[in-house]
Amino acid sequence: MRRLTVIEYSRRVSGRLGRIAAMALYRGNRVECNVCSWRGYKFMDDPWHRATRCPRCGNGVRQRLLAAALDLPEYSGLIEHKIVVHFAPEDALRDRLARVAKCYRSADLLDRRVDLRLDIADMREVPEGSVDVLIACDVMEHVRDDRRALAEIYRVLRSGGVAVLTVPQKDNAATTHEDDSITDPVGREIAFGQADHVRIYGADVVERMAAAGFRVDIVDEGRFPVSIVARHVLRPPQLSTKPLATNFRKIYFGSKPPSRLRCGPHCVAGEGQSDAFPSVV
Ligand SMILES: [Zn+2]
Repeated sequence: MRRLTVIEYSRRVSGRLGRIAAMALYRGNRVECNVCSWRGYKFMDDPWHRATRCPRCGNGVRQRLLAAALDLPEYSGLIEHKIVVHFAPEDALRDRLARVAKCYRSADLLDRRVDLRLDIADMREVPEGSVDVLIACDVMEHVRDDRRALAEIYRVLRSGGVAVLTVPQKDNAATTHEDDSITDPVGREIAFGQADHVRIYGADVVERMAAAGFRVDIVDEGRFPVSIVARHVLRPPQLSTKPLATNFRKIYFGSKPPSRLRCGPHCVAGEGQSDAFPSVV
């Protein structure tokens, strides 16, 4: 594992101390984290939004919205007994998913703590049709060729498999803004919101997924009762005025349509395809 620099270590320690202090300071029962079950008067601030970060697990609006989406009747069985690949895994969600999946593999290109060191745009180690569910939250904005990544995700999913994606998305922007000529960290932070982002998405992210072959279902706060939105803080209580803030999070469920091929009585395709999935890459 890579050793932390002094600055990273001190940031991590101060972050942990801040979270411990917030848990003590914000005691109560007005909000509840549906990822780790922490309850309190309010969540902590993060650099983009006030009162949105859970002091216990560190998760924010997008992770709680994903957890809520996975509790919807249409998605409640999505993970159970399935082969799941989870890119850039959030710790608390990783534990929850791994408990119910048939086979859970965390994945990342740079983080050494994961099960699979994978480039989401080139997963040649993963057989076609071997994955039931692939989750990648706020990953695509780091990927230079996201269309190739979407094609790869589509390839590794079995027919009927599902990609679960989130992306930073500028409020009310119809189209994605990307510019390959912006390569320096400062320029990217100004243009895309973060030094290691290569684009800021607009509503056309759906079209990119559809072009790869996915049928897309969008789950946002509107799918939940107002009381649930307020209890789990599925949208920032106070909208950020920063121009590139993602105030309205969306979970994109992209389904790979079932194959049109009809299996005969001796066909072993289908569920059995998943057994080809590698245990470690
Ligand atoms: Zn939490």
